[in-house]
Amino acid sequence: MIITIDGPAGAGKSSVARELAARLGFRFLDTGAMYRTVALAVLRRQMDWHDMPAVVEVARAIRLDLDEQGVYLDGENVSDAIRATEVSEVVHFVADHPTVRELLVEQQRRIASAGNYVTEGRDQGTVAFPNADCKFYLTACPEERAERRWRELQARGDVISLEQVLRQQNERDHRDQSRTVGRLVAADDAWEVCTDGMTAEHVVHHLEQTVRERCKLGVASNACSSGSPGGASTSSSRE
Ligand code: C5P
Repeated sequence: MIITIDGPAGAGKSSVARELAARLGFRFLDTGAMYRTVALAVLRRQMDWHDMPAVVEVARAIRLDLDEQGVYLDGENVSDAIRATEVSEVVHFVADHPTVRELLVEQQRRIASAGNYVTEGRDQGTVAFPNADCKFYLTACPEERAERRWRELQARGDVISLEQVLRQQNERDHRDQSRTVGRLVAADDAWEVCTDGMTAEHVVHHLEQTVRERCKLGVASNACSSGSPGGASTSSSRE
């Protein structure tokens, strides 16, 4: 069984997807980590980002593995290294390239064919797994997403203004929504969940109940029936 969670940066997809997978006894696939790992491999080779054939060659040549402990580049655990700002700044070069996307989507399908997965990214319900059993599209207003991210950065000791975080996020949203292949868009049959004002625990609970009810996984007590696929908001105010 495949459950997909897509949505813009800062909507809380990763932590929600990881926790949802744990509660359902599924595995979790962080597809953003895959794009980041290819970007890190290119960065380490100090290559020219405009030499796209060479970038594609790197994507083909590296060994990229994932497990519950993280993501590995040629056997090295790079889970922390891929979160560096330098990687975030260049990851769009690989994420925008159709051939790189094709390679990674192929690998995502191979991985997910081995069991039950919650996969998280931008194109999971639209491109990678159009026949997924249950699809979610998590959103939140730009200001709330930026504030969550800003608080995270503050806690890490990074000095950056909220306005700067919002500006960077808007640029990223624009890039994600305008790439020619795999652009960020809700699948027609995705359940849109607006997480404004919701805690992560509340979002996970809501998604878990929806999956258990819709996919007949059982334990449907207190099942949430708000919203519908294809655009209706299932924000907390409607529960
Ligand atoms: O989610 P995360 O920020 O780790 O993703 C890193 C980058 O990879 C993002 O900028 C996003 O555009 C891209 N990405 C993508 N398709 C996915 C997952 C991530 O294009 N399925």
